[in-house]
Amino acid sequence: MGDIGMPTLTLPKGTQIIHRETVAAKEPWSRQLAPGQYLTIVDLEGQQAVDFLCYSAGLPIDRINLPNTNKLNKSLYITKDAKIYSDLAKVMFSVVEDTCGFHDTQAGCCSCEIDKVRYNVTKTESCRTNFISELSRWALGPSEIVSNINFFMRVKFDAEGTLNITDGISKAGDYVTLKAEMPVVAVISNCPQQNNPAAGFGPTPIEVIISA
Ligand SMILES: [Zn+2]
Repeated sequence: MGDIGMPTLTLPKGTQIIHRETVAAKEPWSRQLAPGQYLTIVDLEGQQAVDFLCYSAGLPIDRINLPNTNKLNKSLYITKDAKIYSDLAKVMFSVVEDTCGFHDTQAGCCSCEIDKVRYNVTKTESCRTNFISELSRWALGPSEIVSNINFFMRVKFDAEGTLNITDGISKAGDYVTLKAEMPVVAVISNCPQQNNPAAGFGPTPIEVIISA
């Protein structure tokens, strides 16, 4: 097994690292993966929301679809053994490892506009701004931003369906590993939010590792 330094991080058996990169606090990231490649996202310091979108590399109009993902996984959360489905109900990624659990599928990404409504703050850095900038590298525009997964963000629901963003439960070094099941572009915003607990009120770096 590929122990790479963090005592708790083990890459999928028989794989080797082909790319490894630290994504600074508040920054976006993206990369194309081939089928069978693995993407590991490491929450280096804990309690750091990682907003995540993905698009078919062959047909970008086919992209992550969270209602399909919720229905087919029969869950509001993403965790080990879940699959991420597209608009066309194709499997984009399988979740093969997860040391945290309860990754959010409902609360979407932060934006300057919703932060103004929620917190009466202006000119905040936001995941929406990050997504717009990163998607432009793939010739995708703002209208291609759809509902995203929030890895490491804890959103709770009560019996009446009330939704609350609560303190993250991820610890330093927690990680999730996704297996690409089709040619896919993964797009990340390392959430810059400082007005709610999504990034522990202090955004921190993450690490991304691609192995095959
Ligand atoms: Zn955000």
